[in-house]
Order: sequence, then C-alpha cells, then structure tokens
Amino acid sequence: MHEDIEKILVSQEEIKKRVKELGEEISRDYKDKFPLFVCILRGAFVFLADLVREVHVPISVDFMAISSYGGKTESSGQVKILKDLDTPIEDRHVLIVEDIVDTGLTMDAVTRLLKTRKPKSIKICTLLDKVDRRIINIKVDYYGFRIPNSFVVGYGLDYEEKYRNLPYIGILKEKVYKGGSNN
Ligand code: 5GP
Ligand code: MG
Ligand code: MG
Repeated sequence: MHEDIEKILVSQEEIKKRVKELGEEISRDYKDKFPLFVCILRGAFVFLADLVREVHVPISVDFMAISSYGGKTESSGQVKILKDLDTPIEDRHVLIVEDIVDTGLTMDAVTRLLKTRKPKSIKICTLLDKVDRRIINIKVDYYGFRIPNSFVVGYGLDYEEKYRNLPYIGILKEKVYKGGSNN
C-alpha cells in the first residue's frame, strides 16, 4: 500500500467484480440504443476504460473536461468547460461516466448543460457515490459503490494530480492535504 494511504476502501478485486456487473446491467439497458458514453475527465478515465470492456453492445465514447472552482478537496458546483464534446448529442442516448458524485453540483451543472442539446435520454453512471454529502437532489442511475465522507484517491481519482494510477480506491491520509509534509 502507498505510504500516503490511510486505508484501502475498495480493493482492485472488488472494483473489477462490480465494474463487470455494471457493464452487464448497462448492456441490457442499452441494447440497440447505441449510447454515447461521456467520460468526465480526468478522474473517470480509468473507470471508463474498464467499464467499456464489460459492455457488450455497440456504444461510442467521447470526452469532456470540466473544472470546478473550489477548495482543493471540495467542489463549488461552478463548472467551467475546458474541453467540450466533439460529438453532437441531439437524439442520442447519453450516459455520463463520472468518478464520484459528492455534493451533486457538478453533475447537476453538466446534465443541465447537455440537456439543452436535446439528447434522447441522459443518465449518470458514477463509480463512487457519497450520498450523505448531497446538497442537490440529482438522480444517479448507476453507481459502483456508496462510500462514506472521506477524501479518496486512486483508480483515476487524484489529489493535486497524484495517485490516479493506484489500482484501488484509498482514503488519503489527512496530513497529506492538511498541511503536513510536502510530498
Ligand atoms: P460534486 O460537485 O458532486 O461535489 O463533486 C464532484 C467532483 O469533486 C468529483 O467529480 C471529483 O472530481 C471531486 N471529488 C469529490 N469528492 C472527491 C474525493 O473524495 N476524492 C477526489 N479525488 N475527488 C473528489
Ligand atoms: Mg469528476
Ligand atoms: Mg480532481
């Protein structure tokens, strides 16, 4: 285990099993719908890569990068598009693939924006869901794991761009982001 990790919350094996289940569920729900998977960069890239390989119906993929203004470990819900989709989504079934839904502000802003483009449907698939932290009521259609309110990293999720390559989801030691050592 990495020295900055307090505890492994979801192991590599647990993630693999759950992602396979999600892929099967999504394959059933989107059969003959040719959905567009919209990966929210950067955090969801690992999840997307594993998820699409467990989906056995035709899909396409596009990427959107957003930044949310806020503190280092919190989001403010003010989102700015850094990279927009290249694909028109009018009349498409859109599945947003996200790393984690926390307050819900980011997903609320993104879905409101995408709805203005008249997709046929729009749903959210998030790897992690911090349900207790929600301040806006958004519908999460698929989730990998519900987790308690701790700041987590790994499997795509970062703190200051680090830890994305850890193969598990871990709780980051508080001292790492509360002014302990630098690195
Ligand atoms: P929300 O707008 O729902 O509060 O926050 C969503 C975004 O905040 C996520 O997409 C993610 O980028 C970031 N975030 C929220 N909680 C965590 C966490 O525990 N770890 C990491 N690395 N990012 C988080
Ligand atoms: Mg995110
Ligand atoms: Mg981040």
